Amino acid sequence: MAVATQGLTTVQALARLQQYGKNCLPKPSRNSFLSLFLLQFRSAFIYVLLVAVIVCLLLGQLINAFFISAVLLINALIGTIQEYSAQQAADSLAHMVPQQSRVLRDAHPILIPSEDVVPGDWLILNSGDRIGADIALKQSTQFQVDESALTGESISVSNTKQAFAGTLVTHGRAEGEVIATGSKTQIGQIAKLVHQGEPTKPPLMQRIDQFTLRIAIAILIIIAFIFGLTLLRGAALSEVFLLGVALAVSAIPEGLPAAITVALAIGMKRMAKANVIVRKLVAVEALGSCTFIASDKTGTLTVNEMTIGQIWLANDQLYDVTGEGLSPTGQAYRHGHDSPVDLQHETALKQLVTVGVFANEAHLVFEEDKVHADGDGVDLAFLILGHKLKTLPDTRRKRLTLFPYESEKGFGASVDETEAGPEISVKGAVEKILPMCSMSKEMRQTILSQSHSMAKRGYRVLALAHGTGTPLDDHFNGLKFLGLVAMSDPLRPDAIDAVAACRQAKIKVAMITGDHPATALSLSQQLKIAGETDSAITGQQLEQARLEDINSFDRLVANHRVFARVKPKQKMEITESLIRQGEFVAMTGDGVNDAPALKHAHVGIAMGLRGTDVARESASLVLTDDKFSSIVKGIIEGRIVYNNIRKVIYLLISTGAAEILLFILSVLFALPIPLFPLQILWLNIVTNGVQDVALAFEPAEGRELSQAPRSPKEPIFDRLMLERVCSSALTMGLVAFALFASSLHMGVDEVEARNLTLMLMVLFENVHALNSRSEHRSLLRTPLFSNPILLIGILVAQGIHIGAMYTPGLSDALQLSPISLEQWLVLLATASVLFVVDEAHKKYWHTKHHPKSAVSIAEHPRE
Ligand code: ADP
Ligand code: MG
Repeated sequence: MAVATQGLTTVQALARLQQYGKNCLPKPSRNSFLSLFLLQFRSAFIYVLLVAVIVCLLLGQLINAFFISAVLLINALIGTIQEYSAQQAADSLAHMVPQQSRVLRDAHPILIPSEDVVPGDWLILNSGDRIGADIALKQSTQFQVDESALTGESISVSNTKQAFAGTLVTHGRAEGEVIATGSKTQIGQIAKLVHQGEPTKPPLMQRIDQFTLRIAIAILIIIAFIFGLTLLRGAALSEVFLLGVALAVSAIPEGLPAAITVALAIGMKRMAKANVIVRKLVAVEALGSCTFIASDKTGTLTVNEMTIGQIWLANDQLYDVTGEGLSPTGQAYRHGHDSPVDLQHETALKQLVTVGVFANEAHLVFEEDKVHADGDGVDLAFLILGHKLKTLPDTRRKRLTLFPYESEKGFGASVDETEAGPEISVKGAVEKILPMCSMSKEMRQTILSQSHSMAKRGYRVLALAHGTGTPLDDHFNGLKFLGLVAMSDPLRPDAIDAVAACRQAKIKVAMITGDHPATALSLSQQLKIAGETDSAITGQQLEQARLEDINSFDRLVANHRVFARVKPKQKMEITESLIRQGEFVAMTGDGVNDAPALKHAHVGIAMGLRGTDVARESASLVLTDDKFSSIVKGIIEGRIVYNNIRKVIYLLISTGAAEILLFILSVLFALPIPLFPLQILWLNIVTNGVQDVALAFEPAEGRELSQAPRSPKEPIFDRLMLERVCSSALTMGLVAFALFASSLHMGVDEVEARNLTLMLMVLFENVHALNSRSEHRSLLRTPLFSNPILLIGILVAQGIHIGAMYTPGLSDALQLSPISLEQWLVLLATASVLFVVDEAHKKYWHTKHHPKSAVSIAEHPRE
C-alpha cells in the first residue's frame, strides 16, 4: 500500500512479546471439578432422593441411608467426570481454531495467531476479519467496521482513525500500527461482556430433558399405584416409602442426560480427528441428520490452487502457459506453436500481464529456499504469471488507490503512478468488466463466446482492462479491454468419492458459487453433482423467479444442483427455500456475507483455512482442511452419535420398564415384594453404573452411509424403539417374575427367592447391554472387542455382584448368598432367553422392512 513499512522483525516482535505478554483477554472462569460435582445435585430427582436419605436417617435405617447416598454419590461422580472431560475436550478444541491476524514481519505479510500480536506490529485488515488488537489506522480503502461487539450497536462505522480489538471489518482494507494488546485494549477493559461462553442448553438436550421428565412422571404414577396397593396390603408406611424411592431410582433414567453429553463429546472428538471442529455440541447430531449439502466450489470441491493456463487477447491471439501451482517456472506459447514467446515482441500480452500484476493484493516473494506467498488464489496466479513472464513491477510503492476485490462486486482495481501518469488496472468477472469498456457490439459478442468456451472446459475466466487518469470512484468507463485469462483449479481428488458417498446415503449435494455458470456446470458434471443434461441456474434467474413468486423460486431451487454467479444474500434465500421444502440443510461458506446463510442453515459449516473470522463465528462447524470429504466424514460421525444415543435410551428405558413390570406383577398376584429397596438400588449400580455411558463409545457399524437420512421430525421413540423396548422389557419382567413366583411356589424361602431373582436381573441387564450394541446387526456379527469399555464394564459389574455374595458385611446387608453351580447354569440359560428374543426381533424387523427381493448389494454392503 501507499505506506512504506517493513513491520517489526521477528526478533523485535519476540522481545515485545516478552515485554507486553500475550495478546489475550482474561479467560472466563471455567467450572471447577468441585463446582461441577455440586451442580450434579441440582435436579428434582436428586432432591427427592436426598429427602429419602433424611427420612431413612430419621427412621434409624442407617444402611439404607448409606446405600441411597452411595447411589447418589456414584451417579454424581460419574456425571462429574464425564462433564469435566467433555468440557476439557471442548476447551482444547476451541484452541484448534485460533483467531489469526495478518501482520508484516521482516517485511513479509504473514498470518500469525492473534495471541502473538504485539504493540508496534503492522496489522493488515481485510473484510471479514475480527480485529485482533487496538490499531491506529495509517491507510484505509473503503474501510468499514462493525463495532457492535464494543458498543452494542450494529451499524457499520467508516472513516475512523482507530480500529478496536474485537470489532469486525465488514468492508474494504486497512493497515495500521498496533497501539494496544490484551487487557490494555478497549475490549480488554470490558472483557467480561465478550466471552460469554456456550449459550444455554442446546435443543437436543432440552428435548431429552423433557423426555426424561415425561418418563419420570409416568414412572411415579405407576409407583404410586404399587405404593397404594402395598399399603392396602398392610405393609408399614416407612417400608413402602423406601420401596417407592428405590423403584424410582432404578427406573428413572437419571443417567440419560449425562450419557448423551458423553455421546456428543465423543462424537466431537472423533469429528475433530476428521478435521471437523464442532463449535456447538448439538451440531454433532445435527450434521448426522442433514439431507442436503449446499457446498462452495473454490477450495472445498477444488484445491484452490489457481494456475493460469490460457490467455486470450483482444486481437484474437491465444496463448498457452505452462507450469503448475506456486512454481515460477513456465512459459507462454502462441497456441499451436513450439517455441516460447519473447515478451519484447508481445506488447499486448505484456500489458495484460502488467494489469494482472497491478490490480493485485497478493504478496509473493521467492527467496533461495523459501516462498513467501500470501493472499487470494486468483491474485497469486497473476503474480506467478508475472514471474514466469518476467513482468513484475513493484506494486507497493507506486499504488495511488486500491479498489479491493470483494466477492459481491466481482472485480478489483488499482490506480498506480507511472511515468505516463496515473494508470487504471482492472480485473474481474467478464460481465463486470465489459460494461466498463468501450467496444463494438460484435467485439462484445466475440469476447462473451470466447469466455464461454473457456468456462465450459472448467476454467475460471477473468477479464482484464486498462485505462488512464485518476477516477473518482470505481464506476469506471471508457476502459480498454485487454483480454481474458483462463485459470485451472483442479478438483480435489477426494471430492468425487465423497459426492458418490452422499449419493449412496441419499444426501443431495448442490454447488453454489460466485463463478461463471459454464465453469460451475463443467466441474459439477465431473463431480457428478450434475448430470450431462442438467443446467446451471444463475443468480439472475433466481432473482427473477423470486420476484415472480415464491413457488417458482422453490421449484427452481428444487430442480437444480448448480447455482452460479450467486450473490451471498442469495445463498441465504436458497437455504430458506430448501428449509421450506423440508430439507435439513448443511451450508458451507467463507466470506463476510456468508454469515447470514451460515446462521440460517441447520448446520453452518465454515472454512478453517480460507474462511473469514466472521464466517467461522457464525458457523456451528469449522472444517480445518476446507475439504468437502471432511463434511461426509463428519456426517458419518454424527449418525454414529445419534445411533449411540438411541442405544443408551434403549438400554435405560427397557431395563427400567422390566423392573417396574416385575413389581407390578408381584403386587397384582399378591406376592411379597420381589426385591428389597436396597437390592433395587444395588441392581441400579451394577447394571446402569457404566454400561449406559459405555454404549456412547460404540464404534461405527459400517452402514451409517448406506441408510437414507432420518427425518428430522422423527421422534426418538419410534416404532422400532417401541417394539424393541416392549419385547425386551416383557421378556425380562415376565421371566424374572416367573422365577420369583415359581421359587416361592416350590417352597424356597423369600430371601433365597430374592437372591435368585436379583442374580437373574443382574444377568439379564448385562446381557441386555450387549443386545443394545446394535439396533439392526446381530450380536453374533458385532465384533466382541470393539467396545472394550462396555465389555470391561459388564465383566467388572458382574464380578462385583458375585464378589458381594461372598463379602461378609455386604452380603448380609444385601441379603445375598452364594448360589450353586446348578443354579448358576439355570440362571445363565434363562438370561440368554433375552438374547434370543432380541435377535429374533432384529431378524423379524429386517425381513419386514427389507423383503428379500428388495435387498440389494448396494444397500447393505456389509451384509
Ligand atoms: P467462488 O464461489 O468459486 O469462490 P468467487 O465469488 O470467489 O467464486 O468469484 C466469483 C468471480 O469473481 C470469479 O468468477 C471471478 O470472475 C471474480 N474473481 C474472483 N476472485 C477475484 C479476484 N481476486 N480479483 C478479481 N476478480 C475475482
Ligand atoms: Mg471465492
